[in-house]
Amino acid sequence: MAMNSQGRQTRAANEMNAEVSTHTGNKALQIEEPLIFERGAEGGSGVDLPEPEGIMPRLGGQQAESAPELPGLSEPEAMRHYVRLSQKNYAIDMGIFPLGSCTMKHNPRLNEKTARMPGFSDIHPLQPESTVQGALELMDRLAGWLKELTAMPAVAMSPKAGAHGELCGMMAIKAALVARGEAGTRTRVLVPESAHGTNPATAAQCGFKVDKLPAADDGRVDLQAFKSKLGPDVAGIMVTNPNTCGLFERDIREMADAVHEAGGYFYCDGANFNAIMGKTRPGELGIDAMHINLHKTFSTPHGGGGPGSGPTVLSEALAPFAPVPFVVSDEDGFRLVETAAGEGEQAFGRMVAFHGQMGMFVRALTYMLSHGKDGLRQAAEDAVLNANYVQKRLSAEMTPAFPGTCMHEALFSDAFLKDTGVGTIDFAKAMIDEGFHPMTMYFPLVVSGAMLIEPTETESKFGLDQFCDSLLALAKEAKSGNTERFEAAPVYAPKRRLDETQAARKPVLRWQPEMAEAMAAE
Ligand SMILES: *Cc1c(COP(=O)(O)O)cnc(C)c1O
Repeated sequence: MAMNSQGRQTRAANEMNAEVSTHTGNKALQIEEPLIFERGAEGGSGVDLPEPEGIMPRLGGQQAESAPELPGLSEPEAMRHYVRLSQKNYAIDMGIFPLGSCTMKHNPRLNEKTARMPGFSDIHPLQPESTVQGALELMDRLAGWLKELTAMPAVAMSPKAGAHGELCGMMAIKAALVARGEAGTRTRVLVPESAHGTNPATAAQCGFKVDKLPAADDGRVDLQAFKSKLGPDVAGIMVTNPNTCGLFERDIREMADAVHEAGGYFYCDGANFNAIMGKTRPGELGIDAMHINLHKTFSTPHGGGGPGSGPTVLSEALAPFAPVPFVVSDEDGFRLVETAAGEGEQAFGRMVAFHGQMGMFVRALTYMLSHGKDGLRQAAEDAVLNANYVQKRLSAEMTPAFPGTCMHEALFSDAFLKDTGVGTIDFAKAMIDEGFHPMTMYFPLVVSGAMLIEPTETESKFGLDQFCDSLLALAKEAKSGNTERFEAAPVYAPKRRLDETQAARKPVLRWQPEMAEAMAAE
């Protein structure tokens, strides 16, 4: 009998389809949660206020004619609604989050403590600079660490995510080309097939033509194919290192030299910096721009597309084009250069209203200072060690996508599921029944049925063994022909398989009151 991640026995597979339906739709203490608009009733309120008397509106006839359509609930009802929703979210604080390419590591509580210090949390970007010298110094200190870790002379701190940092780097490249008078001719950007989708999207957003670089059989950029694509119309390349197959691009120096010789720039996607921080410095590899996801490498929380932070380091060639604002210091202290004049004369513009994600800056610097130089290096080494441990153990039943050791993530193909009748997606759904969030599925695209596992350095051997034991058991079960539990999975989740085709083809992006009635009628 199989065990779940808590070591409890799970039901035999043939019992798993026997679903008990409850009167409420709830499953044990997992409450079926309607939308707050479906819950709320008119007149419901968290407070009782007396009817206002003798009010003289002073809005000159501009007042709203009807009440806003807000759900009416009492305070405990609203509270419970959001707490229940939060419990439906899986989180790094609950267990391993093995999503490859995302570096979901533990967010140390010390980070939270410093971020809540009033001198950082209770300040406003429009305060006079003389009253926020400490905050500006912190930004400057963090920028110093990022420049030191990457051996790059400049860093733009304002981008608010990795993808935003890519945009920053590519806009700096565009600005440099404009300054050279070559923006009209250098229009092509080379992007490997295995790239994260944000890379080609960013290049396209900046008006470049995306030219796909094929991968060689060993999962790395095909150097010859790459060289043959260089020409006078190439603006640059966007390469991830270590790449999304979890492999170090060994030819990176040669690629950098070749693209520079051809007159282009080298953008490096630094999302995987966790594997190399303190070991290798991108500036020494010939890179011109690279974003660093603070929410990946430097342990600040990920959260539903935000609040991320993606500072972008820039080479000597691109530094003058860095966006405003940026921090400078002189004998009078720290200040922000806010306009594209004077020190910011060549800035390509501004990417955010203010200076970036202050709370994330505090957390990231806390992480750096608490680890120190040696600690950061060890984090990278342990992340690589953990990934190789997982790769080695799982290789007993699963198919590694490429031979040899990996960097920070272990990539498998679906070859081990061939002829079992169990698909990659079924395998992932069965992991949910076992109490594990699935790894990254079907990415990178260059590997059939890709399963990309990034354990990070913050998982213990105990945790990794539980995870590996469970996946090995599932792989054996799939091979033994027990397809039923996979087809049915997830059996224990509050929601089973959703109609993903329908969701993709006909997304419902806005709730309307009539929808509740229409659904009730169905
Ligand atoms: C996460 C990631 C990005 C995008 O970063 P966000 O912070 O999510 O915008 C880009 N490239 C790679 C390889 C990534 O893993």
